[in-house]
Amino acid sequence: MRIARFTTGSEPSYGVVTGEVDEFGQPAEDSVIVAIAGDPLYVGITLLDQEHRLSDVRLLAPVLPRSKVVGIGRNYAAHAAELGNDVPSEPLMFLKPNTSVVGPGDPIYYPRQTQDLHYEGELAVVIGRICRDVPAEQATDVIHGYTIANDVTARDLQRSDGQFTRAKGFDSFCPLGPWIETDLDPQHFIDGVRVQTHLNGEVVQDGSTADMIFDIPALIAHVSSVMTLLPGDVILTGTPEGVGPMQVDDEVEISIAGLGTLTNKVATR
Ligand code: MG
Repeated sequence: MRIARFTTGSEPSYGVVTGEVDEFGQPAEDSVIVAIAGDPLYVGITLLDQEHRLSDVRLLAPVLPRSKVVGIGRNYAAHAAELGNDVPSEPLMFLKPNTSVVGPGDPIYYPRQTQDLHYEGELAVVIGRICRDVPAEQATDVIHGYTIANDVTARDLQRSDGQFTRAKGFDSFCPLGPWIETDLDPQHFIDGVRVQTHLNGEVVQDGSTADMIFDIPALIAHVSSVMTLLPGDVILTGTPEGVGPMQVDDEVEISIAGLGTLTNKVATR
């Protein structure tokens, strides 16, 4: 099931996106979104007798993390190498504030404090229930679904600060969307799913989730051994190689097979 959050101009609501999709999970032109009562993370799925053409609504971030977005750094060997880093022996964790989250089509604001703003296309895991110390074998039980993230990073600040809070924490530095796919399991991504980033139409990242150093169950076990995870928390699973700079007015599209495409443009405030 593809669960989106959307607005038609008034109060945002959740909905299920129906219809055929192509190999990248892009829905057909005539797809519709059927509204759901309440937030499906907390109240389950009750379809309302209210539907819209997908093309008539504005999609919003499909989840508003109640407490945190957990990032994982250097989880693809080729990406660690391109920035001159070794592969970590344990997952390298950092936090992005929930205020960094924006939705599909929302601007990524280029902060005045950086001269080197990078995209990082990533698979994101949305947690479905409160949990801690989750064994890897039980990780599937706590996953609500999967979406796409851009782990936007001010690379120069990441280097100069020596840690990631400022470099990855600005407002708009965590676009999420276009929706949450709930019907996949971690093995699907361990087997390998294509992650592609286009910058102004040109392919700049083309990786496979099979190349993650720590797979999704291992990441959930690791993160939940440190901090309690809440429904709606998001784990970013790391970016494949090919990261690079974005300029104002650039358009970044991140596509993950089966999940669709997340598109954002860079803007000044
Ligand atoms: Mg990243």
